[in-house]
Amino acid sequence: MSVKIFEKIFKIELPIPFPLKTTNVFFIDEPPRTLIDTGIKTGVSFETLKRELEEIGFSFQSIERILITHGHIDHYGQAKKIASISGAQIYIHPKEYGRIRSIIHSFGLLRSILLRNGVPEELVTQAIHYIESAQGMADSLEEAFFLTDGDSIPFNSMTWRAIHCPGHSPGLLCFYWPEKKILFTGDHLLKEITPNPFMNLPEARAPLRYPSLKEYLQSLKKVEELDVSFLLPGHGEEVIDPKGLIQSTFFHHKQRMDHVASSLLKGPKTPFEIAMDLFPDVSPFEVFLGISEAVGHLEILKEEGRVRVIEKDGKDYYALEESP
Ligand SMILES: [Zn+2]
Ligand SMILES: [Zn+2]
Repeated sequence: MSVKIFEKIFKIELPIPFPLKTTNVFFIDEPPRTLIDTGIKTGVSFETLKRELEEIGFSFQSIERILITHGHIDHYGQAKKIASISGAQIYIHPKEYGRIRSIIHSFGLLRSILLRNGVPEELVTQAIHYIESAQGMADSLEEAFFLTDGDSIPFNSMTWRAIHCPGHSPGLLCFYWPEKKILFTGDHLLKEITPNPFMNLPEARAPLRYPSLKEYLQSLKKVEELDVSFLLPGHGEEVIDPKGLIQSTFFHHKQRMDHVASSLLKGPKTPFEIAMDLFPDVSPFEVFLGISEAVGHLEILKEEGRVRVIEKDGKDYYALEESP
């Protein structure tokens, strides 16, 4: 069902075959009429969007511009298809554009990184198969315009701003409507679950660095300093207490950091072993998320001098530094 959230802003929930069940896309009824995110490319997602737009008196042809928060398939999957019907121009951060283009070619790198982080061979194969098959639910973007931090997003009667919030994904953009103190957050901030800063695949093999959690926490600070009173996330409900949500997200990560550190008390572990401590019933779908979570925290502990990396049999083990 499409819901009018605020003057000019309609929220439309589109189905996805993942645990979160739906992705929110937003239709902005102000020229150039704009769609924020698109949902995945499946028949049911397409039909739902078509029907919901018609219900509020619009069609695909009404869409003149598509703003993409980030390059995960549930957010950009049917952008190309919608643009080919409507002629809409697609806007995305350059880092996400590059990532979408390279992801298809980087499974070899992903495999070696998962193995290096201690994931058993069979689970690596399953996880990659899963990610590969999910790519069928998105069209790669060919023509897109770039938006970076601070760029203006003009409408007839208002101007929004792009806010770069790397972490969950390297080129994630939030869209800010300053007069109304509204922020579209994509997956940077969600009400029901703590967003997972996905492991960035390092651009070079050595030294391996995965700074996504560190960047994520910096991006949280950035939103904390913004004058916002209403968040419109990419999944789930609206948020009317942004500061409270940001505080609880910081707290959640601090607790998890302690959990990761204490799981090393019994001796060195690979990120996979730590992920198993954090999420004992990990499925192939979640293995990448679990590893992301573990390496994000380990990277920060390493930077603080609390853990060190030991390489053994082609795997990275993390060990607590002796306290002085
Ligand atoms: Zn995402
Ligand atoms: Zn998402």
